Amino acid sequence: MKRVHSQEVTMAARNLLFERGVSIEAIAEIVYEMQYPYNQDLSMRDCIESVESVLLKREIQHAILVGVELDKLAEQKKLSEPLQTIIETDEGLFGIDETIALGAALGYGSIAVTTFGHLDKNKIGIIKELDTKNVPGVHTFLDDIVASIAATAASRLAHRIRDLEELEEKLSETIS
Ligand code: MG
Repeated sequence: MKRVHSQEVTMAARNLLFERGVSIEAIAEIVYEMQYPYNQDLSMRDCIESVESVLLKREIQHAILVGVELDKLAEQKKLSEPLQTIIETDEGLFGIDETIALGAALGYGSIAVTTFGHLDKNKIGIIKELDTKNVPGVHTFLDDIVASIAATAASRLAHRIRDLEELEEKLSETIS
């Protein structure tokens, strides 16, 4: 049976983001904005690290592959009607872009889901740039996928920080 190597998928997903003008830093900036209110010790380095590790998740990689492919095919006018026009114009009632992106974040807990909902509504940073029709190209799927990556990375950080705090408490109890 023919099988795609995981590393190949990881590389393809990363390259697609890069090719479509989305940097790790731009996603990390959103994560920072989402998590800073809950933790003032947060650094951009923590956020970048969290985005990097989220990009190793298969669910996220697959969402990137499917979503960006459809965006690109729509740009090249290679889809059948009426889907071609729906995706090209980012039709308001078309919700499959959100569904795919949300689906990829579902495994990462309620913080990922609520953060995704927030980002979907209040588009910030690179999500906003992709959503405005000023940026050339079709990004109907990409903006939601970036929101999904940021939401998952934010959720991961929130859980990590709590684990660290509890570890520190335990250590200080042992010392005193
Ligand atoms: Mg969209």
